[in-house]
Amino acid sequence: MKKVAVIGAGPAGIEAASLLAAQGLEVALFEKESQPLHNLTDKAFLFPNFADARQVSERLLEKLHTPGIALLKDTPVVSLLAPTAGGSWQVNGQGFDAVLLTSGYTTFDARRKEELGYGIYPGIHTSLEMEQMLREGKIVNTIGDMPRRIAFLQCVGSRDEKVGNHYCSKLCCVTAVKQAIEVKKLIPQCEVYIFYMDLRMWGQHFEELYREAQTDYNIKFIRGRISEAGGTFDRRVQIKAEDTLMGRPMKLTVDLFVLMVGMEASQGTRSLAAQAGIAGEYGFAQACDPHTSDNCTAHDGLFVAGSCKRPMTLTDTLADARSAAWEVLRYLHSGLK
Ligand code: SF4
Repeated sequence: MKKVAVIGAGPAGIEAASLLAAQGLEVALFEKESQPLHNLTDKAFLFPNFADARQVSERLLEKLHTPGIALLKDTPVVSLLAPTAGGSWQVNGQGFDAVLLTSGYTTFDARRKEELGYGIYPGIHTSLEMEQMLREGKIVNTIGDMPRRIAFLQCVGSRDEKVGNHYCSKLCCVTAVKQAIEVKKLIPQCEVYIFYMDLRMWGQHFEELYREAQTDYNIKFIRGRISEAGGTFDRRVQIKAEDTLMGRPMKLTVDLFVLMVGMEASQGTRSLAAQAGIAGEYGFAQACDPHTSDNCTAHDGLFVAGSCKRPMTLTDTLADARSAAWEVLRYLHSGLK
C-alpha cells in the first residue's frame, strides 16, 4: 500500500488526509500540537455567515475517523528529506511515497509595532484576543465594565514596508467587520469604529456584510492611519490618527483598541519549505505555478496546500486541499512513483 505523509492537521491537512485515505492510501498525519485544528478551534464565529466555529471544527474532526489515517499528535516534523536514487521521501526518518505540506500560518506579533502600544498599555488587544472574548460572550474594558467605545485597526503587520510584509492578508478586513457586528450584537449601545486603508471585501457576501455593518449596526468606518496609541490615567486608550478622506488629524479615546493582525508563514512552514528547497516569498512555501499547478512543487512527490502558500480563507483552504489530494493521487497512479 502507498504511504503518504501529510504535515499539519489543520483544515487543509484533515481534508486532504481523509480524501487520500478514502482512496485506500495509508496516511500519516503529523501534528506538532497536542490537538488538531488549533487555528480554527480558537475562533467564535466564521465570516461571512456567522457559522459556529465549533460546529465546523467538529465536522472536520469527524473526517479523521476515515480508516487509513494515523494522526500523530505532539509530533513536530523536524526533518524532511528528498529521496535519493529512486528511494522515498523521508519525514522524521520514515519513508513515504509522497508528502503533502499543510503546515499553515501564524499571526503577526503585534509587539513588533511598538507605536501601537500592544503589550505596553492595558486595553489594547489583538483580533485573536477579541475572538476569544466573543467566544466567551463577554467583552469588558480594563476595569471589568462594559466598554462604551471600541476601535479596530486594519492592516497590522500586513501591507507594511517597515515590517517587511508588503502583501495583503486577505482575511482581516472581513474579520474586523464580522467582529464589529458581533460586538454590536452583544453591546448595542457601544460605539464602534474601524480604521482602514482600503476595505477589501472581495469574497461572496463580504460586501453585503460591510453594508449591513453600516446600515443595521451603525459601525463607523474611518479611512485613516493610526500613528500611535497610548494609555490614559483612567486606563483607557488614546489613539492619534489621520482621517485621510477629510485630510485632518484626529484623537479618539476608546475603552478597547483591537489590532487586526495579519497572517505570516508559520515557523514550521518556514523551516520545512527551506529544508525541502521550496521556500518562496516571505517564508511561505512555493508551488510550481499559481494558475495551472498550484499544488505541485519543484520536486516530484512533494505537494503543498492551504495557507502555508499564502493567506487563504477557510473555504479556499478546503478547496485547495481537495485539489492537492487529487494531484497526489494522480502522481501515485502515474507510474512516476
Ligand atoms: S485584508 Fe484588509 S486589513 Fe487585511 S491586510 Fe488586506 S487590506 Fe489590510
